[in-house]
Amino acid sequence: MTAPDLLPDARPASRSYDAVVVGGGHNGLVAAAYLARAGRSVLVLERLASTGGAAVSTRPFAGVDARLSRYSYLVSLLPEKIVRDLGLRFAVRKRSISSYTPKGDGGLLVGGGADRTRASFAQITGSDREYEAWQAFYERTGRAARRIFPTLTEPLPTRAELRARVDDADTWRMLFEEPLGVTVEREFADDLVRGVVLTDALIGTFSDAHDPTLLQNRCFLYHVIGGGTGDWDVPVGGMGALTDALADPARAAGADLPTRPDAPPLETP
Ligand SMILES: Cc1cc2nc3c(=O)[nH]c(=O)nc-3n(C[C@H](O)[C@H](O)[C@H](O)COP(=O)(O)OP(=O)(O)OC[C@H]3O[C@@H](n4cnc5c(N)ncnc54)[C@H](O)[C@@H]3O)c2cc1C
Repeated sequence: MTAPDLLPDARPASRSYDAVVVGGGHNGLVAAAYLARAGRSVLVLERLASTGGAAVSTRPFAGVDARLSRYSYLVSLLPEKIVRDLGLRFAVRKRSISSYTPKGDGGLLVGGGADRTRASFAQITGSDREYEAWQAFYERTGRAARRIFPTLTEPLPTRAELRARVDDADTWRMLFEEPLGVTVEREFADDLVRGVVLTDALIGTFSDAHDPTLLQNRCFLYHVIGGGTGDWDVPVGGMGALTDALADPARAAGADLPTRPDAPPLETP
């Protein structure tokens, strides 16, 4: 695909830009907005009919004006600094339930308040032990999250610098040095609980709990550090509302974001 294919007829294809961003997903839009606000001339080339990439919304119910996320659907890793810098206008809602994992006639509920979660753990595992292990484990990851997340918008720290920032030898070993499966098997006795913890480590990967490359640890980290809390929030109007909000400051600062109105929608990845 060449740039002239993508440019609207009125715009001379020969125009040159300081920066050309290929792809109008959320990362391309953020880059374009920062570049344009820094005074650069910016062109975003998007092959589809709209920007947003995998973070887009759709109206799935005929006659109902509800925009829902089409693929990506929860917001956690968007740093508040970017929201502030770009003046993004969008809203999120907290989820009251994090997960529910069926087992037999019941299931393990995480969310709905500490009392309900504790009661569900006791019912499924037979005691309070697993819930207490869960609390201790996530207090530890929470402490690490509050220290690690700010580095996402800072120059990349060295391993030694990050280790100093985490400042807890056991947490460092658990997250950065040994396969997460070792910790999970040590801290939790119940297989279902182990599985729920490992969901954040394995989802979307072809890894396993004991993978020596620690790919699972990396995936786990990205799931628990967002905003320093690990919360995953629901964007009002779906992810498309958020990526529309990202396109606004890029356009307002003068970036060109031509799309292809005749292009088919993004295929399921
Ligand atoms: C099913 C699914 C669910 C997910 N759920 C979540 C979630 O809930 N929360 C979360 O944070 N993350 C989630 N993710 C991950 C998240 O969607 C991606 O990390 C994110 O979309 C990456 O953004 P991006 O801008 O880098 O790329 P993309 O969103 O992939 O955007 C790339 C854009 O570039 C365009 N493009 C590609 N090649 C060209 C080309 N040659 N010329 C012109 N344009 C081109 C594409 O059309 C696309 O619009 C999910 C991913 C999937 C697939």
